Amino acid sequence: MPRGARGLFAPERVAVVGATEREGSIGRAIMENLTEFVGDVVPINPKRDEVFGIPAYGDIGSVPDPVDLAVVVVPPHVAVPAVRDLAENGVTNVVVITAGFGETGTEGAARERELQEIASEYDLNLVGPNSLGVMSTPATMNATFGPENALPGSMSFMSQSGAFITAVLDWANDQDIGFKDIVSLGNKAVLDETDFIQIWNADEETDVILGYLEGIENGRDFIDTARDVTRETPIVLVKSGRTEAGAQAASSHTGTIAGSERAYEAGLDQAGVLRAENVEELFDFARILDGQPVPDGDSVAVITNAGGPGVMATDAIGDSDLTMASFTEETIEQLGEAMPDEANIYNPVDVIGDADNARFSEALDIVLDDDNVSSAVVIACPTAVLEYPELADDIAAVQANHGYPVVASLMGGERVAVPADTLRENGIPNYFDPARAVRSLDALATYRDITELDYESPVDYDVDRERAEEILRTVEHRDTNRLGVEAMELLDAYGIPIPNGAIVDSPGEAREVAADIDGNVVMKIVSPDILHKSDIGGVKVGVADEDVEDAYEDLVTRARNYQPDATILGVQVQEMVDLDTGTETILGMNRDPQFGPLLLFGLGGIFVEILEDTTVRVAPVSEREAEDMLDDIKSAPLLRGARGRDPVDEDALVESVQRLSQLVTDFPAILELDINPLVATPDGVQAVDIRLTVDPDQL
Ligand code: ADP
Ligand code: MG
Repeated sequence: MPRGARGLFAPERVAVVGATEREGSIGRAIMENLTEFVGDVVPINPKRDEVFGIPAYGDIGSVPDPVDLAVVVVPPHVAVPAVRDLAENGVTNVVVITAGFGETGTEGAARERELQEIASEYDLNLVGPNSLGVMSTPATMNATFGPENALPGSMSFMSQSGAFITAVLDWANDQDIGFKDIVSLGNKAVLDETDFIQIWNADEETDVILGYLEGIENGRDFIDTARDVTRETPIVLVKSGRTEAGAQAASSHTGTIAGSERAYEAGLDQAGVLRAENVEELFDFARILDGQPVPDGDSVAVITNAGGPGVMATDAIGDSDLTMASFTEETIEQLGEAMPDEANIYNPVDVIGDADNARFSEALDIVLDDDNVSSAVVIACPTAVLEYPELADDIAAVQANHGYPVVASLMGGERVAVPADTLRENGIPNYFDPARAVRSLDALATYRDITELDYESPVDYDVDRERAEEILRTVEHRDTNRLGVEAMELLDAYGIPIPNGAIVDSPGEAREVAADIDGNVVMKIVSPDILHKSDIGGVKVGVADEDVEDAYEDLVTRARNYQPDATILGVQVQEMVDLDTGTETILGMNRDPQFGPLLLFGLGGIFVEILEDTTVRVAPVSEREAEDMLDDIKSAPLLRGARGRDPVDEDALVESVQRLSQLVTDFPAILELDINPLVATPDGVQAVDIRLTVDPDQL
């Protein structure tokens, strides 16, 4: 948690380093925006005695009173010394507006590192560089150079794009959406999204944290911090760059399946963050989280005076995690008495076109009284007998009376403006589209689930770490950093079951090993140059003892034909695993630049490519997260015994996921790893193939 961050958003005295009146300059824009600030503004400019009538100082050292926040707008080459000067004079909160740092090449990157060094030496809360600035409405502080000011409110907003803030403000002001604090993160040289969620979690006046991010600095830190924060303060993020997701080609290789978009999706989900698809949704979610209590259940009552929109809401509920409430007999009876015969008294309740205000609000009152109802959507189309302003008052009153979340869809144009204001003042969002109302309600219910989650620590298995390291170190003696089935025992060291077997380098030895193994065997070529063994005929399944020697020769010949200079380490002779009762799954890991180790689980073997049925999580995972991975895949029913098959040993699968999670967390040197297949049978799991890449420098 950044030290004394209060001064960032609630300073008493703000210095503007580079303040000026020069037309079109950023220094001028900031000074103009700060005119309404409740505290003191101190211009710093050695060339001026005053700026806009406020006495200026030549440097921070000559300012008599302490400054809580300094905004730096001087050119890049003087910005670094300016920040040092501020630090030496006891200023701890600094916003660097100046651009020309990490975003501009090596020289800028070096400057940015200097800023980081100063910040760490003096323990600075430094925003930026390349930031639009910061705002805080309680102090009417607009320390940005943007054209818009924010309305007061209780959401705080961070954005990696400064331009986006100005666009959002323009729009939000139109929509009467207000903010507590706003920060333009800029290059995030020092303070990043993880710092701001902590700052706002500690801030009584921030009820919802919003963000627009293009990347996350340290994914694991973010997850761990956000999990704590979301218990009290919801976090809603929109992240750009989702589109690569669709482009990801299916491949049996974890590295390409688990692209970074999937890492974000998994990471933000594991962090307990609500992810919005677009800006509209970001604020839809924010408004309902800000204004309505969380529902105590998922069942929704729909009240409407028009059939069509009622069906639209019902469809949207079907698409969501919410359910249509089924009313108690008492409710049906009450609605039957209160409504005309033509009305539909079952959910969705249709009070029909001739409903006046009294009928509408009575229906809402009756359904919210029902124990089977946890929330309501009120939909109305304009009619001659319905007064929208009064309806808005009634909805607000009934909602307040019952304390259950209600969203409205009073449809129409001009006539909705005033009632929508009334609803907004009472914390009830109003949407033209009933489906949007339902999605917001769904987000509210998801947030409730998030707050109820228990984040257990990952299980710590008793493993043989030394042996694992020894196996990983075998890459040190090779001219490649890839390992294959010769590293099978790595899994054994971490308690992931492997079949009996050995790697041999002569037909005679192969025969001896096969003789010790019950039944037929599987034989595989072992070569760092052959990635997909079966593609070149390098795997023989069901070899009888008497055929082992021939099979050995054949495998080596095939490998030589495929690549004459291939390094052949030998042939693996392996016990057969029963594929008739088993299902081939894939368990793998690759490293995401931001979130670190990303586990992948899914349907394995050839199905990986055809069905693309996989799911990912940032490691280390807890037992619950490992279980979730199993639930997540579409073929989960296959594992659970579809079509008369015996269900596989799910516990063993979940345990393997956690054991692999521990392995890749213990060894950052493992860059990627695939177990394909990990065969799941009713009696446990067996890893029959492995492929990994190791960075020996990290061992
Ligand atoms: P690769 O993926 O390099 O082609 P594998 O070792 O994964 O090589 O073997 C290919 C396929 O052969 C597996 O997907 C599985 O269907 C089958 N197979 C491999 N080993 C065994 C085994 N021990 N028991 C049963 N089937 C096996
Ligand atoms: Mg394989």
